[in-house]
Amino acid sequence: MKILMYHSINKNGDYNGLTIHQFKKQLDYFKHHWDIMTRKEFLKCLQTGNNNDNVVLTFDDGLSCHYDIVYPILKERGLFGVFFASTGQYEKNKLLNVHRTHYLLDRYNSKKIFEYASKLVTTEMVNEKRIEEYNEEVYKDQNNSEFDYKTKRLLNYYLKPMWKDQILDIVMGSVAFNLEQHIANEFYMSLKQMKKMSEDGMLIGSHTISHPLLSELNEEQQEREIIGCHAFLKEYLKLNYGLFAYPYGGKSSFNATTKCILHDYKDIDYSFIVEGKEAKEEVIHNVHKIPRLDCNGFLDV
Ligand SMILES: [Zn+2]
Repeated sequence: MKILMYHSINKNGDYNGLTIHQFKKQLDYFKHHWDIMTRKEFLKCLQTGNNNDNVVLTFDDGLSCHYDIVYPILKERGLFGVFFASTGQYEKNKLLNVHRTHYLLDRYNSKKIFEYASKLVTTEMVNEKRIEEYNEEVYKDQNNSEFDYKTKRLLNYYLKPMWKDQILDIVMGSVAFNLEQHIANEFYMSLKQMKKMSEDGMLIGSHTISHPLLSELNEEQQEREIIGCHAFLKEYLKLNYGLFAYPYGGKSSFNATTKCILHDYKDIDYSFIVEGKEAKEEVIHNVHKIPRLDCNGFLDV
C-alpha cells in the first residue's frame, strides 16, 4: 500500500505544505489510479499483511488545518485519514521547536534568521560528529531555498537537544515577542477537536511529546517522549489501537534504542517512518519501520 504523508494543507501552501487545490488534485489522482482505503481495509491490511496497491492518507503534527480544512474534505468524499499528533504544545502553550523554525522561515527572511541563529549557536552546542551524516540524509527531497535548508539543518538537526529551547526562545522571542501562546493556539488543533475526529472514524496516532530528534536522546528521554505522548492520547481518546510516527521520520531521526522501546512497549502496534517507497512486507516483518511516501513526490499530478 502507498501510505502518504502530509503536513500542512492551507490556502497558500505555507509551512512547507500543499495548497487546498493541490491536495484535492492529489485526491482526484489517487482515486483515478488506485483506491483510497477505508479505515477498515487499512486496519485489516496491517493486521493480516494482506497488502495491495491502494492509498492511505496520513497527516502529521496535529495542526489546526487538519481539523478546519482536511477533515471536512475527507468527510465530503467519504474518506478517512490517520492523524499523528504530538502533545507537548498543550502543556506549554508554545509552538514545538520544529514549528518555531517553520514559523520563522515562513514569515521572515531566511538569510536573516539563519545569520541571527548562527550568532547564538556556539561550537559546543552542536553535535559535530553527526553533521556529515545529517548533510547527506536530511531535506534532500524538499524544495527549500539555500537558507531554509541551512536554518532547518542547524536548528532541527545540528543543535543538541539541551540547547534547542533556549536558542529558539531567543530567536522566536525576537520576532514574536509575547504572541507565542496565541500563535500556538491557532497553529494546532485543540484536544476537543482531535477527540471529535477520533469519535468520527479518523485514526489518531502518537508523534512524541515535543517532536525531538529521538536519535539524539538517551533511552530514558526517548521513553518519556514516546510513552508519555502515547499513553496520554490512548487514555484521552480511549484508543483500542496503537499507531506511532517518528518525528522527522528519516533514518537518521531514530536509532536502535528507539526501535527497542517501541518493540517492548506493547501499546504501540505499528510505527511509521519516511522513506520513498510503498509499504510491503514491513507490515508483517518490520512493524516499527513501515515506510511512508512524502506527498511532495506527487506534486506534479
Ligand atoms: Zn512531525
